[in-house]
Amino acid sequence: MDLPRTIKYEADRVAGFGKEVMSVPGCENLQSCIQCGTCSGVCPLSIYMDYSPRQVMALTRSDFKNEVLRSHTIWLCASCYACTVECPRQIRITDIMYELKQRAIHDGIYPKKFPIPVLAKEFYKMAHKQGRVTDNWLATWMFLKTNWRAALGMWRLGLGLIKRGRFSFTYDSIRQKDQLARMMQTVDNLSIDALTDAKPKRKASH
Ligand code: SF4
Ligand code: SF4
Repeated sequence: MDLPRTIKYEADRVAGFGKEVMSVPGCENLQSCIQCGTCSGVCPLSIYMDYSPRQVMALTRSDFKNEVLRSHTIWLCASCYACTVECPRQIRITDIMYELKQRAIHDGIYPKKFPIPVLAKEFYKMAHKQGRVTDNWLATWMFLKTNWRAALGMWRLGLGLIKRGRFSFTYDSIRQKDQLARMMQTVDNLSIDALTDAKPKRKASH
């Protein structure tokens, strides 16, 4: 039986990760966190999080990249901004959560069986390729990739949708996908340029 170690060691740190996050506009103030815990106290979802918002701030600043990106916390954050409003050091915690989510998807380090990041990734893939999102396929892929047994358990619902003509067997799509592909390529190139300019040391922390 494989028992996971719960205490983190110095060797688990990914040097430079905290600095990379703090170099992103809006995330600079993280350095001044005093670990008062106000963010965790006001967060309506902290009772469901594996690490509290205060802990995520501390782990990020201390370079514990894998622990932060694999946590459920950043995906449970509902962007209500309560923590950001109340933080005595004006740290934009919500924006830091966004930055961490973006990095988690970019680096492929996220909880692979947790529905929220899987849903976000499938949504992006479908919109990117088809120009539209087909709800029933989005839900189907999310279940199959996170909990296929639950998908099997929903066969009655699926059958009902099919009978009523509410289940699309094909993907909805726009007509001029070639134009979409060109547009998305331009956006991707701009994003890569922005990452290269704003985060020159990003690759160093892998
Ligand atoms: S409220 Fe602000 S200063 Fe306090 S722990 Fe949270 S991020 Fe740090
Ligand atoms: S923005 Fe996210 S972390 Fe902050 S209080 Fe709201 S749910 Fe919690």
